[in-house]
Amino acid sequence: MTEILIRGAKILAVDAAHGTEPFDGDILIEGATIRAIGPQLSAGPDAQIIEGRGKLVMPGLVNSHTHSSETFFRGRYQGMPLEIWLLYAYPLLMNGAIGERLLYLRSLLLAMESLKNGVTTFCDDFFDPPKHDLDRLGTVFRAYDDVGIRANVSSAVMNIHTLDALPFAREVMPQNLQDQLDFGPPITADAYMDYCKSAFSSLHGKAGRLNFMIAPSAPQRCTRDLLLACYDLARDKAVPFHTHVLETKTQAVTGHEIYGKSLIAYMADLGVLGRNTTIAHSVWVSDDDMRLMGEAGVSIAHNAVSNQKLGAGISPIRRLLDAGVTVGLGTDGVCSNDTSRIFDVMRVAGLIHSVSGPDYSKWVTADEIVRMATIGGARSAMLEQVTGSLEVGKAADLLILNLRNYPFMPLNNVAKHLVYSENGSSIETVMVAGRIVMQAGKLTTVDEDAIFDEIAELVPVHLAEHAELEKRNAVFEPVMAEIHRRSMLQDIGLNRYQGDLPAWPGKN
Ligand SMILES: [Zn+2]
Repeated sequence: MTEILIRGAKILAVDAAHGTEPFDGDILIEGATIRAIGPQLSAGPDAQIIEGRGKLVMPGLVNSHTHSSETFFRGRYQGMPLEIWLLYAYPLLMNGAIGERLLYLRSLLLAMESLKNGVTTFCDDFFDPPKHDLDRLGTVFRAYDDVGIRANVSSAVMNIHTLDALPFAREVMPQNLQDQLDFGPPITADAYMDYCKSAFSSLHGKAGRLNFMIAPSAPQRCTRDLLLACYDLARDKAVPFHTHVLETKTQAVTGHEIYGKSLIAYMADLGVLGRNTTIAHSVWVSDDDMRLMGEAGVSIAHNAVSNQKLGAGISPIRRLLDAGVTVGLGTDGVCSNDTSRIFDVMRVAGLIHSVSGPDYSKWVTADEIVRMATIGGARSAMLEQVTGSLEVGKAADLLILNLRNYPFMPLNNVAKHLVYSENGSSIETVMVAGRIVMQAGKLTTVDEDAIFDEIAELVPVHLAEHAELEKRNAVFEPVMAEIHRRSMLQDIGLNRYQGDLPAWPGKN
């Protein structure tokens, strides 16, 4: 079995013993696994030696929430709240499914950018209408297998008509527009379970690092029987039940309009909050919601950049942490971000909670952010036994950073440099499961130039088609704007536009 010895490095293990306090030592990797960490380790005569002096070795970053379906839409949108942005990024009136090669390239590009920027694991909740297809899921798995990333992958499911998952939609939208939105019979819980079970038997566990997870898009977009079936299967297979909850104020209003309670309370009553539940966003949660989430042991993916891009608000991270919720960091898709760099999310998340209130004892610290980006993310992906920290027996998913670089010059406190200074430019080597996938700034697994050439050749036609689709969907924009406006005017006793500051004067 191949051996790699990293010698004399500064190590940020993020394990129970050291946390984010670095120490000097060696790391011995055997095959895919970390075999030893300590001073003066020895290796066999054939071991590859990596000189660690002047380098920082840290766990690979975990992106807790992204959507590869958005990869080609980077740099395309601005100035729209989620409900309007969705019209263009995920049009109601659709074309046919994207071609097989583009599907592969779209997934591959996201993984390439992720690895180059230190993300060794991501949770990809891609959307691939009009149907769930095992071959196409296999194409996405193949892209991640080829490039060498670790991933939880799913194709998001929903089976409630969009207009029935939004407040005021049926009354606001003219009938002639509603008539255009005939999506045919929605997928049943049984049919989706059949698809998931096939995915588990044919793709789950591929290459020892690619898993299938279960991703009902959102509680208001799925029937009760579908949510329950998804939850039971996720528990049975020990994978995440990965969903979107309370990203926007419109969604907060949705819960009260449709179920007469918050979406979190609805999920709790249904019995789908638990260890397997990973909630993307969690911006518009109340104190009662947070208590339920903490008691149930759920995780959230905190998408600090995306939440600002779409004007969703600021998630109350300190109160979620206090409630016992696990927090990971996510980029969300690259058309609400517009990168897949977790280092950017670390910096934004490290700063934005300081405007949540004047009590500076509650501000989020760099140590906490580093944990969210590593072990917290791993836990949210149900992979904390595998990755997220440097520990003997865990996978060798790690980054080697050059400390002789501007973000660390001169060296003060490693965690603070990582959150407030580093942007990924110091990453020299990226390893996933003991395999070096990036070295000296170049991916070793794919030919980046060739992929860029192919994207430049094939994608413009796809984007031109998408531009036509955007024009057709623009007819719905006034309706979505009105839904957004009405939702903004509703007093639900919460405000997340200024973090934890009281919402309406005299309330909350
Ligand atoms: Zn998302």
